[in-house]
Amino acid sequence: MNLLYCPSCLKINHSTFCKACLRKFFNGKKVSHILPFSKPEYEEVVIQQSGKISISGVQQKHSLMLSGTSLELTYKGGEYIIKPLPQTVMKHVNQVPANEHITMQIASQIYKINTAENALLFFKDNYEPCYLTKRFDRLPDGSKILLEDFTQISNKSEEKDGINYKYELSYEEIAELMEKNSSAYPIEVEKFFKLILINYLINNGDAHLKNFSLIYNLKYNDYQLSPAYDILNTRIHFPEETELALPLFKNGYETDSYKINGHFLYEDFHEFGLKAGIKKNRVENFLKDIISKNKEIKILLNKSFLSEETKKLYNDYLQISIKKLTPVSK
Ligand SMILES: [Zn+2]
Repeated sequence: MNLLYCPSCLKINHSTFCKACLRKFFNGKKVSHILPFSKPEYEEVVIQQSGKISISGVQQKHSLMLSGTSLELTYKGGEYIIKPLPQTVMKHVNQVPANEHITMQIASQIYKINTAENALLFFKDNYEPCYLTKRFDRLPDGSKILLEDFTQISNKSEEKDGINYKYELSYEEIAELMEKNSSAYPIEVEKFFKLILINYLINNGDAHLKNFSLIYNLKYNDYQLSPAYDILNTRIHFPEETELALPLFKNGYETDSYKINGHFLYEDFHEFGLKAGIKKNRVENFLKDIISKNKEIKILLNKSFLSEETKKLYNDYLQISIKKLTPVSK
């Protein structure tokens, strides 16, 4: 199974990983985009290693380690994580890995967001795709870097706060927690703002507390926003989902625009940016930038591993959110 585009950066005329991606992912070792095991072999090993079959079937992600030029499933440690097709019932379920991959590539290549390294791999028996990501909380010697997601930072748990604990704060409160924990807040909050805009732009309705983390930076003895992870266009799979996973503002606050329109528009994000302490001209520049990449996104989207039908759907939803993020000229 030869490819046309690099399964990570999507550069054309690459039948497998390009050299730059091999370096980034595997220290330059020639690892194939075809996994050395089949889907049934994967399922068997996962069940053996985890010692049980979970209610929802086989675990939806698993660790991998590099052994020579071969990726092996491992229970402990492991520098990589693979996510095969989810077993949850949703629309276009076989498009989930390609969706996450293209969305992460849009965030990093077009919007210059710091993201977890990511690519697509394929099972050797049926070439079913799975999403690959490289852990960013490990130092080269294998030791762990302190990483805390916002359920941990806000001390929320399922036992204490119920099954919706991942959705129990607003984006405004996440920014407040960032301010408390990071002395580089003025820089970090701009990254956070950009990330929220991207989530809205690409229709990720599931950016909850666990999908944002602070990572410890040894050099500065400080916490920073971690590389972005787990972002995809969820509307393709759940068309009825809410626009954002969390409220923008705390205490049920709504902008005048929201009260009239019932969905988030330019004005909401403008006000959010100011409330988070970002300078007005910076807020406006971010908002201008986010809607100005239509052409670049279309080019990258066309090279993605999504089906033609899903590419169209992705782009249709994108056009709707670009419209919503465009200020109404007065
Ligand atoms: Zn590449």
